[in-house]
Amino acid sequence: MKKENQPKKLEEVKLRHEAKKKKLQFECDSKVKQLEETFNQSVDLMIKAYEDYLKGFAPMKEIIPVVINVSILPKGIRVTNLAVSRTDSLENIQPMITRRLAEMGEPISNWGSPVFSLSPKNSEKMEETSKIIDNFTLPLVQLGAEQGFELIITGSILFESEKKKMCFTADYKEGNSVDYFSCKECKINWICKNCSLSCHSGHTIVEHIKNHKPSWNCCYCAKRKKCILPNRNTIK
Ligand SMILES: [Zn+2]
Ligand SMILES: [Zn+2]
Ligand SMILES: [Zn+2]
Repeated sequence: MKKENQPKKLEEVKLRHEAKKKKLQFECDSKVKQLEETFNQSVDLMIKAYEDYLKGFAPMKEIIPVVINVSILPKGIRVTNLAVSRTDSLENIQPMITRRLAEMGEPISNWGSPVFSLSPKNSEKMEETSKIIDNFTLPLVQLGAEQGFELIITGSILFESEKKKMCFTADYKEGNSVDYFSCKECKINWICKNCSLSCHSGHTIVEHIKNHKPSWNCCYCAKRKKCILPNRNTIK
């Protein structure tokens, strides 16, 4: 073979290769498509069969859980679609709410003494239409809960996220450590982390000293009376 023919030959091989590749790709695509279609058909058939099957059980709706929503009013937090069995009382439901809130990233630190009431639905007049529940052991359904009802909780519930929003000095114990920051605008050093985030939000904050164990109950935000969080001056 002559040398000058080689590039041409190579080009031919390449073209043939490309054509083959395209053909295979096409075949593969259409097979995948066929497979997807049959799969979707199977799913449809299964769903229909299952629905028919469930229809046979319609009279047993008593065992289907009641799905309610929970509004924690003072905080504006709502737990939606809480499935409550027909035998669940507030005693069982309260831990369920605790769990759900933790899953939502809003863990409760302290329930306090909450007041529960029940309302037909989530509406503007929810508080007017609601009925206070004073029996914690009677199933919620017996107390009138139906699908889509709203369980309203009021009272001073403390969430972990709020607990964290305290100045370092509010619950200081000897040996506690904290990151300190400086605020350029207020010209204060030794500002505790929570204060830097809350009392000085929007200010220019720079790191002062990290993970420091002060020898006294120290935050200059509180000391200079700039503090808007619970701190050693406001907590007795
Ligand atoms: Zn502070
Ligand atoms: Zn500041
Ligand atoms: Zn502060």
